[in-house]
Amino acid sequence: MNEELPLPSGKGARARLASPTPNKNSGRGAGCFRVPLRAKLAHAAHAPHADQPPTFKSRLLRPFGVVLNGHLQLGLEVLLEEGVIKELRPHTGLPEPYVISPSFVNAHSHLEYRGLQGKLHSDDYFSWIREITEAKKSQTLDQVRESCLLAARENRATGVARIAEHSDRPFASEALTAASIDGVIYQELITFLEQENPREKIERVRQLAERQQQGFSGVVAIGLHSAYTVDRTTLESFGSGKPAAGPRTQDSTLSTPPNAQRTTNKASPPQDSAPSPKTQDTRHKTSFLAHHSAQTSIHVAESLYENQFFRTGEGPIADFYRRNNVPFRPIGASVVAYLESIGLAGSNVQFVHCCDLSTDDIKILADAKVRVAHCPRSNTRLKCPTAPVRELLDAGVRVGLGLDSPASSGPIDMFAEMRAALGVSAYRGKPLTPEEVWSMATTMGNESIGFGDEGWDIYQGSTVPLIKVHIDNAYSTEDLIEQGSPASIDWV
Ligand SMILES: [Zn+2]
Repeated sequence: MNEELPLPSGKGARARLASPTPNKNSGRGAGCFRVPLRAKLAHAAHAPHADQPPTFKSRLLRPFGVVLNGHLQLGLEVLLEEGVIKELRPHTGLPEPYVISPSFVNAHSHLEYRGLQGKLHSDDYFSWIREITEAKKSQTLDQVRESCLLAARENRATGVARIAEHSDRPFASEALTAASIDGVIYQELITFLEQENPREKIERVRQLAERQQQGFSGVVAIGLHSAYTVDRTTLESFGSGKPAAGPRTQDSTLSTPPNAQRTTNKASPPQDSAPSPKTQDTRHKTSFLAHHSAQTSIHVAESLYENQFFRTGEGPIADFYRRNNVPFRPIGASVVAYLESIGLAGSNVQFVHCCDLSTDDIKILADAKVRVAHCPRSNTRLKCPTAPVRELLDAGVRVGLGLDSPASSGPIDMFAEMRAALGVSAYRGKPLTPEEVWSMATTMGNESIGFGDEGWDIYQGSTVPLIKVHIDNAYSTEDLIEQGSPASIDWV
């Protein structure tokens, strides 16, 4: 089984780098910005180097600082050539008042709930789930589409170029494409009410996923809502990589290692010479057919209720089963142990939340190389336990930062999410560093959603989409996180 997602077409990333969008902060002159002293010193130290006039194909960015895997390094400039980072080098002139960073990766998202932002009032996980389930019923498809379009635009505005999206309904791919965001869409599967015969439901979700793939440069796969809303047989079939319904074609091109595929992307035609319809269709088909069976994502141990249900058969989830006359039997083990026992703990799986973990659970995740999404604002709002991210990172688990649903997290703002990650980890007494949190939102975040070795960072040869962060007088990553907001972001 291929354990890495295929790279989305590289042309989008190159086009974003090669075709700068208008600078919304262009009215912000350098005169109203204090260039840090260290940046000035770095410039002075390298003053003898003459400016190299950029060619028509190249572009020189001279920020006062560059964020490298979460670490703010002052005194560096970046030379781009046709959207590829040609050189990362010491300043050769006076720096400008901004910082360059790899764009953000939103490791967990629900675009469709944007319209419910500020409208749900439950502050407990299970009552919130019931409230949003009811609220969804009153939404029209037009409202869902508007939610997706708005949320995708707001993700873009806060610096997100890649996303791992859970969608119950259509429109995510249209919205992400319109906002120039790639990544992976997990079409979400719930079989709670179809436990006896889930094949028809799986087929419906598979068809929805196929429609999402149309025109989307990223990957579409089937996502699993949770271990308690998807029946065991279906979970097992995903664990073994063989869904209970739908095509199981394995195309040999799909096992192409990401790095090799990246080379192919670089050699592909530029954005303005679109592939022929035949080529495009083939690419979409192959990426879907392979990866809807090989990759998945699932909410795990978000609240205390989930382990209570699996361990003892008690609590609100058990009551929910009884109300709906769905039989169940406690297994006397944690949800993580349950998923591992049925083959669903692996490097091809993203576990979202992971708030209520034991030491044994963390060892399972680390040993199986499961990837994790951390969503601190949503977890806080819904009174979930604080995820043990310090311990997960120390165990070697790749953790990304997710904005989750605006209906639980609030406004789409990666800086607010980073501040929350720092805050809850410190409150818990197991603090994360600002550099770790920035990496979770960029470089490690990209690994955490399955794009593995692509290298979402600033280095020679990288095509990572870049953002400018306009922060007054930042000397550290902590300063950037403290002072940042979507208004700080510009696209390169
Ligand atoms: Zn979610």
